[in-house]
Amino acid sequence: MINETMAQVAANNSAIREMFEEGNRLRTLYGADKVFDFSLGNPYFPPPESVKTAVTEILETMDPNTVHGYMANDGFPAVRQTVAEYINERFGDALSGDNIIMTVGAAGGLNITLKALLNPGDEVLVSAPFFLEYGHYVRNFGGVLVPVPAKEEDGFMPDIEGIRRAVTSKTKAFIINNPNNPTGVIYPAAVIERLAAVLEEKQKEYGTSIYLLSDEPYRELAFDGAEVPYLPKYYRNTIVGYSWSKSLSLPGERIGYLSIPDRVDDYELLRGAVSVSGRVLGFVNAPSLMQLVVQRCIMESCDIAAYDTNRKLLYEGLSKLGYTCAKPEGTFYLWLKSPIPDEKEFVTEAKKYNILLVPGTSFQCPGYVRVAYCVSPKTIKGSMDGFAKLAQTYGLK
Ligand code: PLP
Repeated sequence: MINETMAQVAANNSAIREMFEEGNRLRTLYGADKVFDFSLGNPYFPPPESVKTAVTEILETMDPNTVHGYMANDGFPAVRQTVAEYINERFGDALSGDNIIMTVGAAGGLNITLKALLNPGDEVLVSAPFFLEYGHYVRNFGGVLVPVPAKEEDGFMPDIEGIRRAVTSKTKAFIINNPNNPTGVIYPAAVIERLAAVLEEKQKEYGTSIYLLSDEPYRELAFDGAEVPYLPKYYRNTIVGYSWSKSLSLPGERIGYLSIPDRVDDYELLRGAVSVSGRVLGFVNAPSLMQLVVQRCIMESCDIAAYDTNRKLLYEGLSKLGYTCAKPEGTFYLWLKSPIPDEKEFVTEAKKYNILLVPGTSFQCPGYVRVAYCVSPKTIKGSMDGFAKLAQTYGLK
C-alpha cells in the first residue's frame, strides 16, 4: 500500500484539475471556440517581449556553466541583490540580497517556509475562501490548517474578531493572499493594521512568534489604481512570497522569491532552515535561467490593461444579466454568487452551455463560483449567450 494520505489526496484530486480535463474533453467534442473555460488561473496573455529578449541574450552571451550549473541553494547572489534593491526602492525597505531566497514559484516558497517553521500539530490560520492547496502545503509538514470564514457581508474581508478567537498557543503562522484568489478582493491598509494588531497581541499573550506569510502572486494585478499594502511595514514577523507566474505570465517556468527580513524572530535560525529546506525537499535551487531572466525583467509585467479590459467586459456582462457579483479589485478572478444555494448544481447546469466554472466549495466557501477571466476576450464575449440562458433558467432579472 502506498502512503495512505496521498492515496486519499489522489482519489480526491482537486476539482480544478477535473475541470481542466473536462475542458479538454469538451474542446475535442465541440471545438475550442465553442468552449468557455473559466476554470484555471493559467494566464492567457503572453509574457512581455523583454522575456524573450532576455532569454536569447543570456543564452548567447553568458557562460553556459554559469547559466545552467549548480549554485548556492538560495540562488545567484547578483539576482538576489537586484530583487532586494527593487523591493527597497518600491516599498522603502532596507533589505540586502541575504534576505532574499529565489524559489520554485510561490508554491515552492510557501512549502520551504512551512517546512522550516512547523512542528507536528502546529496551526496555520487562513481566511476562507482560500487557495485550497494551502491545506496540502501545511499538512505536508504535519501542520493543521485552521480556516476562519471571511465576512461575506463585508465583501469577504478577513473576520478579525474570528481570527482573534482562532489563535492558540500552537498558532505558528497566518497565510494571507492579497490580492485574493478566489474573491478578487484587495485587503486595504486598515484591515492589515487590525490583523497585525491582533497577531501582535496574541504573540504577547502566548509568548510565541506568529509569522505572517504573505502569498503575493497577484500583487501586480490591481486595478483602478488600488494600492496593495506592503505587509512588512505593518507587521514585523512578515515573510513575503512572490512569484512571476502571473505578473510575467510564466507559471510553467516556476520562478519566485521569498523575502525574510533580519527583523523577524529567530532570523538566523529561520533563514538557515528555509535555505536548507529547499535542498532537503529536492528543489535544490530555483530554475537558473529564469532567475537571470527575472533579474533583467524586474521592471516589466504582462499586459495588465488587457486583464482590466476582460474584467470590465465580464463584470458588466454578468451584472446586466442579473447576476450578483462584486467588481473584482485585483487578480484575474471574479467571485460570483450562485443563483441557487447549491453552487455545484449551478456549475453542472453551466456545463450544458460549455461554460466551465469552479464551485466555491473548492475554496471552502459554498454558494459562490469562481470565474477566471485570464482568457481571451472572445471567450468572454462568446460565453454571454450561455450565461443569458442560465440567467433565464433561474429567473434572474
Ligand atoms: N498562491 C495562490 C493564491 C495561487 O493562486 C497560486 C497559483 O494559482 C499559487 C500560490 C501558486 O503560484 P506559483 O505558480 O507561483 O507556484
